This record gives sequence, structure tokens and C-alpha cells, in this order.
Amino acid sequence: MIVVIGGGLAGLSTSIHLSRLAPDLPCLVLEGQSEAGGLCRSRRVGGFTFDFTGHYLHMRDPAMISWVDEMLGEKMTQVDRRARIHTRGQRLNFPFQANLHSLPSDVVTRCVVDFFAAGETRSKPASAPNFAQWARQTFGDGIAEEFMLPYNAKLFGVEPEDLSSEWVSWSVPRPSGEDVVRGALGLGNEGMGYNSRFRYPVSGGIGVLADALADRAGDALRCGAQVDRIDAGAHTVHLASGEVIPYDTLVSTMPLPALLRAVEGLDRGGEPLASAADRLRASAVLELALGVERESIAEGAHWVYFPEAKYPFYRVGFPSNVCAAMAPAGCSSLSVEFSWPSGVPSPSLESLVEEARAGLEEAGVLGRRDKILVRDLARLDPAYVLYDHQRTALVDGVLGRLAEAKIHSIGRFGAWCYSYMERALLDGAEIAASIAKTAGGSGA
Ligand SMILES: Cc1cc2nc3c(=O)[nH]c(=O)nc-3n(C[C@H](O)[C@H](O)[C@H](O)COP(=O)(O)OP(=O)(O)OC[C@H]3O[C@@H](n4cnc5c(N)ncnc54)[C@H](O)[C@@H]3O)c2cc1C
Repeated sequence: MIVVIGGGLAGLSTSIHLSRLAPDLPCLVLEGQSEAGGLCRSRRVGGFTFDFTGHYLHMRDPAMISWVDEMLGEKMTQVDRRARIHTRGQRLNFPFQANLHSLPSDVVTRCVVDFFAAGETRSKPASAPNFAQWARQTFGDGIAEEFMLPYNAKLFGVEPEDLSSEWVSWSVPRPSGEDVVRGALGLGNEGMGYNSRFRYPVSGGIGVLADALADRAGDALRCGAQVDRIDAGAHTVHLASGEVIPYDTLVSTMPLPALLRAVEGLDRGGEPLASAADRLRASAVLELALGVERESIAEGAHWVYFPEAKYPFYRVGFPSNVCAAMAPAGCSSLSVEFSWPSGVPSPSLESLVEEARAGLEEAGVLGRRDKILVRDLARLDPAYVLYDHQRTALVDGVLGRLAEAKIHSIGRFGAWCYSYMERALLDGAEIAASIAKTAGGSGA
């Protein structure tokens, strides 16, 4: 029996791929919540639909693209990104480093001069000792100090010197000198970066994708099955209900620190897993979802980054600008994202609404007379894994120890990484292929 912990994208993908590659191998997906989907769910609040912050499907893998397109067909459309950065009272196109034009001329000059001055020392991500130095070496001090450093300090809630630069490879666009000059002259560089075009359901929010996967997983999926404990010696999973389920191979997509605390029987030699868990760090996100009585908002932007400390949020998404069906006619929706320390209790909804409203008015996103019709607070914890200087050796070590005991920890939080929905689907496909191969090879 293959037991999968978690019915998010990674867990569902594991089960669906296994049923195709090894139809004789029984598989059970245990999802703790009452519905599957994990972070890829959507919720209805008073006629509005919200994801757990904007979830836009950017894909590159041909097999995943055809799988998703075949699964969702006309329920999915493609959207050209309209992302902006709000700083110094201006709204720049994303990415900042290639769209400097509307900033004050002394700031543009400094950013461009420093970018070219950095040319001599520009380094590959792995060679910079920390994220702050990587940003300075890659973009120059001007761009680093205007955007890269303040934005990422806000997003991760730590000093950029405390982060490595390993996570930047796919997520941070690196423009050429020509791109920077074109952007400084206002010639436009809109389509840069990994998510310049993305897929999104025509209605119902991103949860439509998870629902389609849950349908395909069928009877292999059990919701409301919270895993409390794993006995790695006896190869058994223990549910909160008291039920005990045996496994041959375990695939876990629950957050790695929680898995390390739940596993028993693997502490011979090496650091106890529970103490390794204490050293894995993440930040949380509080998402304040707002529905407002106003037809158009933020000049059609899909989301806006706010690097300046005077704004309490780091990003604001506008789901109804991506897909009109996310809000009732004549209304708009906002997803206001606050970075929050993991494990620290959330503030009250009222205080967040007050802070958000003040910031949104200051930025000119809302007017004093705009009426907020709905508000809803979601907590994502963990949300962003912190790539501090001990993360990679620690994660590689514990994943190796788990794999030796036939426990494969995958997905965004299982592999304790900064990844995206397509990667979660691929993680599932890859572990299914590996399990099917081993089972076929050994005749199990
Ligand atoms: C703020 C934010 C914005 C994002 N935006 C995007 C985006 O725009 N585009 C994109 O591609 N990706 C985005 N992502 C990433 C994306 O959400 C993830 O990569 C993907 O959904 C991860 O899927 P998963 O299956 O690995 O994990 P999860 O979705 O976390 O699924 C894990 C599942 O395990 C279950 N579980 C946990 N513990 C237990 C237990 N003890 N017993 C049983 N079940 C358990 C959980 O309930 C959950 O359903 C974003 C992430 C965040 C945090």
C-alpha cells in the first residue's frame, strides 16, 4: 500500500499518476481538511470568490501543460500578466529593474549607472554569499536598495543578509543592459519573467484545478483524515481518529517540520529529527480578502508590489481584474497580503482592515468613500520557506534519512522549498514514476 499524506496538488498528482503507471498498486491519499486542494483552493465570500492569495498557473513542462489542458479544456483561459510596483508615489510595470522610467530622474540615473558598474562583478546566484550581496552584484546598489532589498525584507520578514541566493534562479528576472536602458527610457519591457502569461480558470477560482484532480483521484482520496503520528519502524500511519493504517511506502506533502515531529523510530544516530525541525524556518502570510462596491480598480492591474516600509502589506492582488467572474457585477476584489511571523497569533480582523484601508487610501487604490462589502481573513502558515544559511544542508540531510526509511517528503512544504503549482504537480508525477519503477523492478 502506498499512503500519501496530503491532498494538495502534489499529493493528488502522486495518486493519479500512480493509478496510471502502476494500476495494481493500492494507493490512499489522507487529507486532514474536509476538502482537497491545499493552498490551491478557492472560497466564496458573499458573492465574491477568493483564492488563498492569487494563484496563477505558470507552466513550462510540455507534459504538464497537455495534462492540465486536457483536464480543464475550456474551463481554463490564458492571461497576459499586468503586474505593477508602487513606489515613490509611482506605479511602475513589473519587473522594477527593467521599467525604471517613471521614477525621479536622479533615482533612474543612479539605478542605471550602478547597474552598469556592477557589470564587472555580476555573479551567478550560487557564488554570492547572501541574497543582499547577490542583489547588489546582479543589479547594482541602486536597484538593490530601491526595490530588491526592501521588498524581500518585507516579504520574508528577515534581513536580506540572512538569506542565501539559492531560491532566485527561476523567480527573479535578470534583464540585459539593453533591457535596463530601454526601461529607463520608457520603451517598455512588459513580458519578462517566469509568469508573463499564465493559465487561470474562467470562473470559480483556482480551486477548479484542485477539484478536477480530486475527481480523478476518486476513491483513493479520503478527506477529514488528519495524520498525527508515523511509526517508521512498524510502517504505520496513525490518524487523529485513532485509526492505524499500514504502508509499504509513504509519500508526505505535509510541512517538513511537522512530519519530522510526527515520525517515530528514526532517531538512531544523527541529530534528533524533532530538533532539526526546530531549525527549519518559514514566514506566514495573512491574506485580507476585500470585496468593494466599485466597478474598476487599480487601473486594471492584476497585482501590485509595495516595497516601501510605510505600507503594511507587501503585495495587493486584484482577483476581479484577472477574472471578472471573481466579483459580482459593479464590484471589485482585493487580496491584501501581509507577511507575518510563523506561529505568532494573527491580529484581529478589524485592526488589519483598518491598517489595510489606510495604506490603500494612501496609495490611491481606494477612496475615502469606497464601500467595503465583504472582508475575510485567511492565514497561510507556513507560506514562504526561509532560505537561511543552514536550510539546504539541513533539508538534504533529513530528506535523505527519511527516504532510506521509504518516506518521501515532496511538494512545496514537504521538500521545504520555494516552488509553484506546476512544480507540485511534477513532484507527484516524478515520485509516482519512481515508486512504479521500483515496484515493477522488484515485482512488489
Ligand atoms: C502566498 C502564496 C502565493 C502563491 N501563489 C502562487 C501562484 O500564483 N502560482 C503558483 O504556481 N504557485 C503559487 N504558490 C505556490 C502553490 O500554492 C504551491 O506550490 C502548491 O499549491 C503546493 O502544493 P502542495 O500539494 O505541495 O502543498 P499544499 O497545498 O500545502 O498541500 C498539502 C496538503 O496536506 C494537508 N496536510 C497537512 N498536514 C496534514 C496531516 N497531518 N494529515 C493530513 N493532511 C495534512 C494539507 O491540508 C494540504 O491539503 C503560492 C504560495 C503561496 C504561499
